[in-house]
Amino acid sequence: MTDHVNVAKIFGENVFNDAAMQERLPRKVYAKLKKIINEGGELDLTTADVIAHEMKEWAIEKGATHYTHWFQPLTGMTAEKHDSFITSPQESGKVLMSFSGKELIKGEPDASSFPSGGLRATFEARGYTAWDCTSPAFIREDAGGATLCIPTAFCSYTGEALDQKTPLLRSMEAINRQAMRLIRLFGNTTSQKVTPNVGAEQEYFLIDAEKFAMRKDLVYTGRTLFGTMPSKGQEMDDHYFGTIHPRVAAFMKEVNEELWKMGVTAKTQHNEVAPAQHELAVIYSECNVATDTNQLVMQTLKRIARKRGMKCLLHEKPFAGVNGSGKHDNWSLATDDGINMLDPGVTPHENIQFLLILSCIIKAVDEHAGLLRESAADPGNDHRLGANEAPPAIVSVFLGTQLEDVVEQLISTGTATSSKEGEILHTGVSSLPDLYKDTTDRNRTSPFAFTGNKFEFRMVGSRDSIAEANVVLNTIVAEAFSDACDYLEKAEDFRLAVHSLIKQNFSEHQRIIFNGNGYAKAWVEEAERRGLPNLASMVDAIPELTTEKTINMFGKFGVFSRAELESRAEVKYEIYSKTINIEAKSMINIASKKIIPAVISYTTFLADSIVQVRRAGIDEVSVQEEQLRRVSTLLKEANDALKNLTKLDQKAEGMPSGQEQARFYHDEVFAAMTALRTPIDQLEHIVKKDLWPMPSYGDLLFAI
Ligand code: ADP
Ligand code: MG
Repeated sequence: MTDHVNVAKIFGENVFNDAAMQERLPRKVYAKLKKIINEGGELDLTTADVIAHEMKEWAIEKGATHYTHWFQPLTGMTAEKHDSFITSPQESGKVLMSFSGKELIKGEPDASSFPSGGLRATFEARGYTAWDCTSPAFIREDAGGATLCIPTAFCSYTGEALDQKTPLLRSMEAINRQAMRLIRLFGNTTSQKVTPNVGAEQEYFLIDAEKFAMRKDLVYTGRTLFGTMPSKGQEMDDHYFGTIHPRVAAFMKEVNEELWKMGVTAKTQHNEVAPAQHELAVIYSECNVATDTNQLVMQTLKRIARKRGMKCLLHEKPFAGVNGSGKHDNWSLATDDGINMLDPGVTPHENIQFLLILSCIIKAVDEHAGLLRESAADPGNDHRLGANEAPPAIVSVFLGTQLEDVVEQLISTGTATSSKEGEILHTGVSSLPDLYKDTTDRNRTSPFAFTGNKFEFRMVGSRDSIAEANVVLNTIVAEAFSDACDYLEKAEDFRLAVHSLIKQNFSEHQRIIFNGNGYAKAWVEEAERRGLPNLASMVDAIPELTTEKTINMFGKFGVFSRAELESRAEVKYEIYSKTINIEAKSMINIASKKIIPAVISYTTFLADSIVQVRRAGIDEVSVQEEQLRRVSTLLKEANDALKNLTKLDQKAEGMPSGQEQARFYHDEVFAAMTALRTPIDQLEHIVKKDLWPMPSYGDLLFAI
């Protein structure tokens, strides 16, 4: 009865991919474009005209009426402005469809309403979008018809990056250059390019749309501002990898098909730990494509949910007391001829290169732990990092027992001669034990874990773009590679130099390696002893963007200028303040207009009941009285908290935007929100269910 899907046939049918380009473009034009995709450079207008024309013809055949430059401003989401292909009417009254090279490679959206942190004063509203030909154009079908989407970078008139993609592309160039230097030193003469590969695993919640609409907190802020878990929570662990409900399964099927058509390799799906929580993973691809792809995944999840009477929640912590959602950013480095540089390999020679790379990554993460933490900062993630589910806010690296043992041997003796299992391997003084891909070793609590042939950065928030995390990863590792090459290129005895560098990197940065339980309290103390940063909130993390160390590093590799970093910090403070302000206002609104009146109704109900029972000649009304007293006490507490929150939020609103305001929102307003939530959540458990003005967690989480 189910319609069968021919995956091979639909996969990529809506992508202007290599096959489509080869088929459509004249050979010379194709070759030119391909060269630019692989090696960089600028497209001339004549070539662009030909490509644009063919792209348009292809898109129109697929039913597209519009095109859009699809870009990623600093909001964490994507933006688009649609133009139709039609030209001004001809004399005959008919219109033609046209799309020029200029329109393909450059757009000029009004940039004034996107966050820029002062980089582009509002009187200079111009911003430019430029085609990123390394990420293929695609057609997206939705209720508005079919649209040709052209992935673009977004810059100011003077060339500063106003988006996520521009720095990402710059960071990919940086790591390419430094990684090439490194592999050349190890005798590789054949690879031409090194690219970071990224695979993102996306977590989300799926709830019923009608129930969602009755929760104004979800509608306005993406998370519940009131509410607690019912008696059946996630304690049973019965949802994780459980059977997928038919309504959800049908949703996933449609999501997969839509993604496949757009060339997105949706691969794995399962239920997650919390009730109503699920995950979708795609197969890894080049870093910038993976970043675009993840945006498409998020949009598609939302779109298909809406279509099917559901709502997809991408917020990091939609419900208190159950797990939140994150995104695992799996990261590795590969050469254009297919060598994964994070694969330990089987020969000692490969091992040495691998161990050097590993030691560089350890050094990079240790030196820039705060910045890496910052890259995952968003207001929603503050509820998650450090809670008992996600990695803690302290960055550390998990290597697994075998690798950690090798590192320890290297540090103490300078060479590693045996594996943990005691088996002596055929290693000479200057070589190292064979390493194997360790699949049994798993640590879910580590924020940065080595998983066999890649690292998994687990701090990124579910709603956030993965761009920032990868910009940081690419650049900090580029810096460590560059330092290594500076030293090794001058060395007289390469082998000796490599060994001493590996030892030095590991010795100096061993403190970042932690294989234990990241959720344990003891780790927080231990990390402090080790001097590792513990940046609990987004407001604590943002200053990492503008330290001299950060500015120098990004400057050295041309990824960010000082002005760009300062503007990004400003944008982030603003995002934080706005988010908390909206949450505070929504809370005030819901508490004063819905919850407090409902609780008052309940006190009236109790008081009436006491009168009625007494009137019936029964004196035993202690239960009602006790209940009335409890409710009245909590009601007073809630009302006082509400007044306090209102006052503090007004004060915050009057402050000039920036660090101080964000800090005030965090320390004062957010604390006042918690003070309001606490008595109200207690009231929810006491007040008569039919009087409570909105669906409960139970109604929301167990409805599908
Ligand atoms: P794990 O079981 O370690 O989570 P999976 O095989 O489930 O690994 O993959 C999780 C994600 O990691 C997927 O998106 C996958 O494509 C991606 N991935 C696998 N290998 C690599 C790699 N070498 N580089 C980057 N990402 C990778
Ligand atoms: Mg994983």
